Amino acid sequence: MPRGTGYDEYDHERFDRPRRRTRPRTKDRPSYDDAVDGVVVTVDRGRLTCLVEGRPVMAMKSRPLGRKGVVVGDHVRIVGDVSGAEGSLARIVEVDERRTVLRRTADDDDPVERVIVANADQLVVVAALADPEPRPRLIDRALVAAYDAGLDPLLCMTKADLADPETLLTIYRPLGVPHVVTQRGDDLAEVRARLAGKVSVLIGHSGVGKSTLVNALVPGSDRAIGHVNAVTGRGRHTSTSALMLPLPRYDDGGGWIVDTPGIRSFGLAHVQPGQLIGAFPDLEELTDECPRGCTHGEGEPECGLDDAIADGRTDVDRVQSFRRLLASRERAEDD
Ligand code: ZN
Repeated sequence: MPRGTGYDEYDHERFDRPRRRTRPRTKDRPSYDDAVDGVVVTVDRGRLTCLVEGRPVMAMKSRPLGRKGVVVGDHVRIVGDVSGAEGSLARIVEVDERRTVLRRTADDDDPVERVIVANADQLVVVAALADPEPRPRLIDRALVAAYDAGLDPLLCMTKADLADPETLLTIYRPLGVPHVVTQRGDDLAEVRARLAGKVSVLIGHSGVGKSTLVNALVPGSDRAIGHVNAVTGRGRHTSTSALMLPLPRYDDGGGWIVDTPGIRSFGLAHVQPGQLIGAFPDLEELTDECPRGCTHGEGEPECGLDDAIADGRTDVDRVQSFRRLLASRERAEDD
């Protein structure tokens, strides 16, 4: 594919490292010594686009994988025609163990959970400071999904030329959420520094400037998407799937972003309320004496967090912010 389309500069080293096998070899299973390593960059109706040594290769799951899902970000082993030539279709025969898994539940009444992205490091919540107004409830829910998945959150506030970030920052400061602020014409140096060398998933509802950000970070990403379509022969990219794009290599060494055009809500029914506190070790250590099954939420009887507030061992704003996140799991997004 032509230079400048995004996929030609991807970070080889990161994906050429030795891998762990997901299952032991047995004599009943074929060995795939001729298989090549790839990473799944998008999925469209059962067809997976994988990057193999920088070129997009269309593949499908092979039978030995059974019902195991393969998602964007998965590191896979591929056999068959891995030329990437038009009309070629290779087979994915193995999927590496996942380092992290970002999930969502379709909505809170439908507890079927879906994996959105595997092996991400960071969840970047893109929110406009104005036009449209920031929606803290959506941000809270995204943060819960990030903490639950073990991803580092990053709050990316756009359109700082329209409104002061301080109002929104006041809400998230007690949680210690890292943040960056951007505005029209920004060179994005700070954002790039935060993304360097990591796999970052970007989420944000329409109008917040996420697409603008993606295009600025990966020049030509529109064309890369067009190229994927040319390979799949399926017209425009169905915007329900995530799409992984390699960041241009600067001195700070690459990294990837995963755009999530189809994600408008973050159902959280899969999140176990008692586990969210694990993302806040300073609070967790105050809960040793909690009654069994305590979720550490507002109104829990004899919760250790209340004792800690009472005798000044923790910051009341931090506990209240944690409890707001916990409660956001149970409330609808639009109220
Ligand atoms: Zn508790």
